[in-house]
Amino acid sequence: MPVPNNPPPHIYTTVGLERAADRRRDPDWLAQKRRDPKSLVVALHDLRVLIADRASGPDPFALTVASLGGEIPQESVFLGLLEERAVFALDMSGESSGLALRAVELRALAPLLPARELGLLAYARALLHWGAMQRFCGRCGGTLVVGEAGHMRWCPSCRAEFFPRTDPAVIVLVTACEHCVLGRSPRFPPGVYSTLAGFVEPGESLEAAVAREIREEVGLEIEGLDYRSSQPWPFPQSLMLGFRARARLEPLRIDARELEDARWFHRRELLDEHHRPVRLPAPDSIARYLIEEWLFEDS
Ligand SMILES: [Zn+2]
Repeated sequence: MPVPNNPPPHIYTTVGLERAADRRRDPDWLAQKRRDPKSLVVALHDLRVLIADRASGPDPFALTVASLGGEIPQESVFLGLLEERAVFALDMSGESSGLALRAVELRALAPLLPARELGLLAYARALLHWGAMQRFCGRCGGTLVVGEAGHMRWCPSCRAEFFPRTDPAVIVLVTACEHCVLGRSPRFPPGVYSTLAGFVEPGESLEAAVAREIREEVGLEIEGLDYRSSQPWPFPQSLMLGFRARARLEPLRIDARELEDARWFHRRELLDEHHRPVRLPAPDSIARYLIEEWLFEDS
């Protein structure tokens, strides 16, 4: 039997990077690393990754300290240390680097880059998105100042502090013995059916969020729940918490505001990728993993 194509840690998880959080408050060290030719820079343009096209494939580290005039701008975000080299994220929206770089959506790079690079880029994308959205104080409206090498912002007027957000969302494969539920949102590409998912609401446990989402979206009461694994999903700032839930094989009551269809599928229908009645979600997603993990396990 084939195995799921993206076992944990899932794509977009930071791997191999030492975050070195203590260095975020070390201005002298940061200044030196921003001038160090060995430092790595990942640059984004409107949240798309700037890459150079090489014979060996896309290169997201095409910008260097030298090509940026011998020093990386102050507003670059310190991500951490990769084998002792400092890594910075730089927002180049609205700028022309003067180099032959191409802006590409991160998800389009998923099949082309190693997991370590994708994890770095996901981390960079999440922080640059947060920084672009968090420019003014939510309490007094003052303009925020960047602190901790891009990992916090604070308000000089009222001293309020703001930190990057990660929004928890539950993503669930509902099963009943040899069947599982897959649903289709109108936002999905044609033919794609996926696991059910939704954001955790304030005051809600993960277990309660799973039970509520399944009840709301397909009208089932779950009878058991197992946590499987998680995936950072920086589109823009979610953390997907993956579960498998058990339910009875009963007719679905579909919430038409959320889903245009949902069905029970027998394992046999989904096993052969050439004869599936539907398309599964993209291979970079935990949704695909949760389905394949169940599909290919010994039953
Ligand atoms: Zn303020």
